Amino acid sequence: MLKNNLINELKQLYKNNNLYSSIILNSKNIQDAQEISEELIRYMFCENGSDLDDRCVSCERAKKKLLFDVIHLGDGTSEISKEEVKQIMDKFSLTSIEKTAIKVYVINVVENLKIGASNALLKFLEEPPLNTYALLLSKDRTNIIPTIKSRCKLFVIETNADDRELNALEKLLITNSKEEYLLSANNFKKIDKASFIEILEQAFNRTIIKKFPQFAEDTIILIEDLKKLPNDKLAIDNYFIKIAERL
Ligand SMILES: [Zn+2]
Repeated sequence: MLKNNLINELKQLYKNNNLYSSIILNSKNIQDAQEISEELIRYMFCENGSDLDDRCVSCERAKKKLLFDVIHLGDGTSEISKEEVKQIMDKFSLTSIEKTAIKVYVINVVENLKIGASNALLKFLEEPPLNTYALLLSKDRTNIIPTIKSRCKLFVIETNADDRELNALEKLLITNSKEEYLLSANNFKKIDKASFIEILEQAFNRTIIKKFPQFAEDTIILIEDLKKLPNDKLAIDNYFIKIAERL
């Protein structure tokens, strides 16, 4: 998803009281993920609920990272220890005087959590305290521990580099080879479901509509099936058989 669209979507979710309590913001360009988390936090704490920075006291404090109920963890390069994660847990487990007060913690970057730190965080993600939000920034989502990933809503921010580089499915499609299509189903079954849905959606928007319109309907059906069916492996097999036939 493009950066600005994602910022708007997250703000909208928060406004409607539907924001996920644990979010992964993934971008090859980590600065994009940082900017999104900073703008979302500014919006969440703004005294006037302004879409844009209105320079109220909270907006100013948010920009300077001085909000009391926001904790930033990690410098982006060094490993994050269990002790550091426990500090967040201790601070956020204290009953807040104002029950509606929100608390946010940002982890930059989530791949830098050591094993012990991940396990400590996991407990926190499983039972998040009331009105607490986790924003986990990530450069490489394939390196996030699966148990953490499965407890969070993943948002992938498209970078310009992504726009130029074809994803695995697009690379396969442009081979125009029935044989390759049929042989590749197994590779895609190994990818975790959320990532495969992203690959499909990206391929659909960038390549399938323009170059392979005859695959469009099958692709939409597969995306829908993956989102609701437990037995997605069969759906993936069927998809590759169908598109090979339509080639
Ligand atoms: Zn404000």
